[in-house]
Amino acid sequence: MSEIANNKVATVHYTGTLPDSGEVFDSSKDREPLVFLVGHKQMIPGFERELMGAKTGDKVEFTLSSEDAYGNHNPDAVQQVPTEMFGEITPEVGMTLMSDMGPFRVTAVAEDSVTVDFNHALAGQSLTFNVEVIDIRDADQEEILHGHVHGVGGVIHEQKTPKEPTKECNDDGCC
Ligand code: ZN
Repeated sequence: MSEIANNKVATVHYTGTLPDSGEVFDSSKDREPLVFLVGHKQMIPGFERELMGAKTGDKVEFTLSSEDAYGNHNPDAVQQVPTEMFGEITPEVGMTLMSDMGPFRVTAVAEDSVTVDFNHALAGQSLTFNVEVIDIRDADQEEILHGHVHGVGGVIHEQKTPKEPTKECNDDGCC
């Protein structure tokens, strides 16, 4: 019987909660299960490590430190910016917006400046996961080469014409 290991494609249902409050921050329960290629940094580090060796049907619960999850909260990633930089958007606390430097959250709004936080919303948090293993299969060579799952729950590439030679994946955004 196969178990979760590098270069396996794992299908799981999971619920993530904050251990202190029990608040659910993410769950796959009301949607399709999560499908991921093990050992290719698709998941936060501790998530895969804790699931290694699990078999189909196993239910696993674990709590990760922030280092094993979304990292520690970096105070340098909290910045004050002038309100006029928001242009037509009226910044409000709790908003998540996109910038050239990636997504950020608005954490405070003053008269002429806004405090923004580029840390992941779960940075600095310990996270508890309840995971149920639904399916495990071997990844095929192409998936291992690309570093992601193909097909249901994964990446669906545009159909190639049959005569086009298959190209190897590189870093120019072919995937
Ligand atoms: Zn691919």
